[in-house]
Amino acid sequence: MQYNIYLFGAPGAGKGTQAQLLSEKLGIPQLSTGDMLRAARKEGSELGNRVASLMDSGQLVPDEIVIELVKQRLARPDHQSGVILDGFPRTIKQAEALDTMFSATGRSPLRVISIDVPFDEIRRRLSGRRWCSRCNRTFHVTDNPPRPGNGCEGGCQLEVRSDDTPEAVEKRLQAYSQQTAPLMEYYQRRGVLKTVHGLGPITEIFASLQASLAA
Ligand code: ADP
Repeated sequence: MQYNIYLFGAPGAGKGTQAQLLSEKLGIPQLSTGDMLRAARKEGSELGNRVASLMDSGQLVPDEIVIELVKQRLARPDHQSGVILDGFPRTIKQAEALDTMFSATGRSPLRVISIDVPFDEIRRRLSGRRWCSRCNRTFHVTDNPPRPGNGCEGGCQLEVRSDDTPEAVEKRLQAYSQQTAPLMEYYQRRGVLKTVHGLGPITEIFASLQASLAA
């Protein structure tokens, strides 16, 4: 069975963490546009330089850029048996472009799972979020600190992400409410949207996610 799953939710809802777990469990790749854009910045590519200030201020990067990134990535052979989308689509225009890509390549329909977390909890999570640019894992100072076996050997180098400043977080929540939240209705109308409660231990949320995929 080909799984094409889109994890939907506000920034900091836990999409990346759950996508990583799901990717390991199902053996299909995670496609994160945020990770791809951060990798482009780290390489210092022209694309990376173009998107840096938008990302740091908490704004979305132009649709054309992310649509092209996703199109190229979905064409890879290792993405043919399914994919877990994390952070894309984030606008109606991106969702429409994804529909076109899916129908052009005959993929199984997208299954959308929304991870529901209140904004106050999002603010708490993002202020304690830390990131290791070497193993690309995300941690939280109290909720999910790095432990032996779940990060870099010899210890992770933890950094605060440049868009986790309080000002950028408010901008991202605003971008989410205005540009991304309307996608709920878009997918609800197609009957492909399920919602899981995103509060509580990571393992419990993962169990709900798996249960909603099996239902
Ligand atoms: P989060 O979900 O925590 O905001 P991401 O890593 O998914 O973090 O995204 C970080 C930033 O990358 C976004 O704030 C935005 O600037 C950019 N970005 C990622 N995905 C997209 C997308 N699909 N469309 C536009 N911008 C994006």
